[in-house]
Amino acid sequence: MSSPVLEIARSLLSQPTAPFFEEAVRSEIGRWLARMPHVSVDYDNFGNLIALYQRGTAIPRFAFAAHMDHPGFVKEPGANKPALFLGGVPEVYRAKNPPTQDFGNFAMWDLPAFELKEGRIFSRACDDLIGCAAIVAMFEELERTGAEASVYGLFTRAEEVGFVGAMQLAAERRLPQSVTVISLETSSERGGACKMGAGVIVRVGDRTSIFDSATTALFVRWATEAGIPFQRCLMSGGTCEATAYQLYGYRTAALCVALGNYHNCGPEERIECEFVALEDVEAMARLCIAAAKITELCDPHSALRIRLETEMAKFERFF
Ligand SMILES: [Zn+2]
Repeated sequence: MSSPVLEIARSLLSQPTAPFFEEAVRSEIGRWLARMPHVSVDYDNFGNLIALYQRGTAIPRFAFAAHMDHPGFVKEPGANKPALFLGGVPEVYRAKNPPTQDFGNFAMWDLPAFELKEGRIFSRACDDLIGCAAIVAMFEELERTGAEASVYGLFTRAEEVGFVGAMQLAAERRLPQSVTVISLETSSERGGACKMGAGVIVRVGDRTSIFDSATTALFVRWATEAGIPFQRCLMSGGTCEATAYQLYGYRTAALCVALGNYHNCGPEERIECEFVALEDVEAMARLCIAAAKITELCDPHSALRIRLETEMAKFERFF
């Protein structure tokens, strides 16, 4: 089985990355976007990649955001090898000194970059190159179908050390304040009510925040209308970039896919590949596309109020 999102995921996951050392991933994303005549690419002062698809006169409403780094070892200035580990991996996993692969200024766990087995993508870094792949797949589909739309893609650096890229991007105010930021993530399946393979997760919040209720309701509606498999969950296992953008005054919502072996933490305290279900990733890309193509934005809450008031009127005689 081959799908556009699979091909894009394979090409991005093949690139090595670590916090502050996302250059290979960023270049690969740039190569995909360079083939798309309606996508313009820009970089902020921190090196985050800001892409905009613009065809026709639409005004951008959403920015889909994903980060390009993954926990790994980095070389400190003046050091002779990458020895500083950045990102949330418990000491008990690292104490066993799992083998690493050296990329000069940084190193990753020595695990396969990409494997497709029984409908699941296994990789050393699903988090969050899968989110990046969904955004590129959205742009490609908009190009292919000639969609009249306007939508941003934000590809950020150094999320794993505390949303550094997202905060730099938000603080620079290069993104209009009227744009709603939709964080795309892979999120630990543990402890959640969600299930791998049961569709994209409309993430109502994270460990720290809850996201915009009306926007969340819209994504649920669009997924329902388009027949896209989805789940609606609070993924409280971690904090995602939506919280960071929200702290800088942006309206936010979030989508994610269930992730196995979060941050490479496998069973029995072994470092292993992360994995996601391909069909969940495809559903995430489809929902991004559906949202990007929406021309009329209704207020789901006022529609609900009208419906409830109509119902209420039926019982007026009992008031
Ligand atoms: Zn992460």
